[in-house]
Amino acid sequence: MTGTGFVRVSRSPATRLAFLFSAPALTGWRFLVSAAEVRAEGRTCVMRRPDLVPDCGNCAALCCVATAFDASEDFAIDKPAGEACPHLGDDCRCTIHDELVARGFAGCAIYDCYGAGQRASANGLGTHFLALREVHELLWLLTEAAKLCPRADLRAELDAEIAILDAIEPAHDLELAARTRAAHALLRRVGDVLLSRPGARALAGGTSRGSALLRVRCRRS
Ligand code: SF4
Repeated sequence: MTGTGFVRVSRSPATRLAFLFSAPALTGWRFLVSAAEVRAEGRTCVMRRPDLVPDCGNCAALCCVATAFDASEDFAIDKPAGEACPHLGDDCRCTIHDELVARGFAGCAIYDCYGAGQRASANGLGTHFLALREVHELLWLLTEAAKLCPRADLRAELDAEIAILDAIEPAHDLELAARTRAAHALLRRVGDVLLSRPGARALAGGTSRGSALLRVRCRRS
């Protein structure tokens, strides 16, 4: 995961809504906002909030230590949470970065910490990296939802939730759990609004929900 930067999903803007509507609620949002970062020629480019973009050069390889993998088509080995990957070098860089897929670590190539890694590294929050990643992923989803939502009242709710999450302490598990539930509920409401737009369901029906993003199986310990 170190040195990989973040994944850009190359899909046309026309498929952004389709991915939202063709996948389960929150998975759909992940597809949607990934697709919103398309940088391909002649396509829409919606930049992620800068602090939600991974900066592997300023991270102590937290994802290569904190996350757990199950041996699968995406990870060549089992690795428990909290144990450094055997491919992690002393300089906190991946020693097989240029051949991740060939070596059976495609999951690393698409992993995204949403900027939690550099924030945790800079603030001595390494033990809270996974909680912070959850916060940052929600912030990513909410900020992108705010760009797409046509209703001012819902955009105000999204902005309020973003402000709360920006201030949350990742160590407070109970508070994080409550905020996660609130954010998910709000995202579903925004999704319902988008789904109710003319033609949205038809657009969704013609699109596959498959994506490599689904295959990332990092989990909290
Ligand atoms: S193979 Fe290991 S060191 Fe390399 S990116 Fe994946 S987890 Fe990190």
